Amino acid sequence: MDRVLLEKLKKGDVSFHEVGHMLDAGAAIELRRTAVSEITGTELKHISNFSFDAEDVTKHNIENMIGAVQVPLGVAGPLQVKGEYANGNYYIPLATTEGALVASADRGCSVISASGGANVRIFGDVMTRAPVFRAKDVIGAKNLVEWVSGHFQRLKERAEGTTRFGELLSVEPFVAGRSVYLRFAYDTKDAMGMNMVTIATDAAVDLVLEENDVDLVALSGNMCTDKKPAAINVIMGRGKTVSADVIIEKEIIMEKLHTTPEKMAEVNYRKNLLGSARAGSLGFNAHAANIAAAMFIACGQDPAHVVEASNAITTMEPADDGLYCSVTLPSLAVGTVGGGTRIGTQQECLNMLGVAGAGNPPGTNARKLAEIIAAAILAGELSLIGALAARHLSNAHAALGR
Ligand code: NAP
Repeated sequence: MDRVLLEKLKKGDVSFHEVGHMLDAGAAIELRRTAVSEITGTELKHISNFSFDAEDVTKHNIENMIGAVQVPLGVAGPLQVKGEYANGNYYIPLATTEGALVASADRGCSVISASGGANVRIFGDVMTRAPVFRAKDVIGAKNLVEWVSGHFQRLKERAEGTTRFGELLSVEPFVAGRSVYLRFAYDTKDAMGMNMVTIATDAAVDLVLEENDVDLVALSGNMCTDKKPAAINVIMGRGKTVSADVIIEKEIIMEKLHTTPEKMAEVNYRKNLLGSARAGSLGFNAHAANIAAAMFIACGQDPAHVVEASNAITTMEPADDGLYCSVTLPSLAVGTVGGGTRIGTQQECLNMLGVAGAGNPPGTNARKLAEIIAAAILAGELSLIGALAARHLSNAHAALGR
């Protein structure tokens, strides 16, 4: 190791970023890690252990890399999924440190599979970016809105000139005084698409500015809405809008969940529906975020999009001497190319589900992944509502989580 460079790094004469231009990826990682270790007096032996391609991730996924954090990976299933893209039994990869989560998901998978599998359908598929413009006044704002409705085809050509796969589907205007928000919505095929739509929208913005007397204030005006809780995503959708359901016989509920359909329906009504309404929640569910987070981390999704994934509504109603259960996710932002999906460990998890990389035709792998995640979230809802109805929740956490 270059001790002279290390001392410069520790003193701040060279930055963590600059080291990346002076050394190859592996040497730069080791030098930064040694500097942090010596400055903070911390032993970093676990962080230094990883097997994925450092050269590749430092180009695409991370800056100032010093190592990797390891998250335990468990598996739940098999989970029978009956979607339009995912059809079969799947082993669900869950990366988490929450004891009892995998056991709970596994129990839910067993309930769904014993009931013949979960139906899953996708109802919407758009990724959005909404720049904000400032007009002179509301007259200028109206002029921009009218211009957009008359020039969609030209905006589409500009946007699609930046990508081989993305397709601009709509541009929806929203106005607040002289501020105009244009919500661009794209089909991004197998990509989750945030980079793709940001680049494409930037190109379309040039056309808006060339032909309108308005200023661009920001390429994102928060009506996208990316990584924040927002009703617009619940109502208009963002990423995949996907629903999963299953009917479970009373005997299966009694045998596997040790409760009854009526008790589960009441817990769902008073907790997920009434309780969430009383709390002003955007998510009317028990713990969709738990399954989403664990699958997102395992499968290389952007974990910040768990915010949107948690906008889920869970329903449970007595039916056919059993229980009808569903989960609807209006804004599940997932992809199988780009972002973290290319990293070795994450690729292996995607491969377990048969969805790594580009689908044929494009878009089918990302849709298959969305269907599997929706079914896994349904499994999580069933297990947790069942545990609450049977009053088993604290026992399970005491046994598995402490
Ligand atoms: P990306 O890493 O930019 O890669 C996506 C690109 O893969 C597409 O644009 C496309 O290139 C190419 N591609 C190859 N095969 C494809 C297929 N079958 N379907 C679709 N595209 C295919 O990924 P991204 O999904 O656009 O963005 C995800 C990343 O954005 C994540 O790392 C996330 O953390 C980050 N992110 C960015 C922002 C932002 O504002 N920029 C916000 C949130 C998250 P072509 O377009 O050239 O055809």
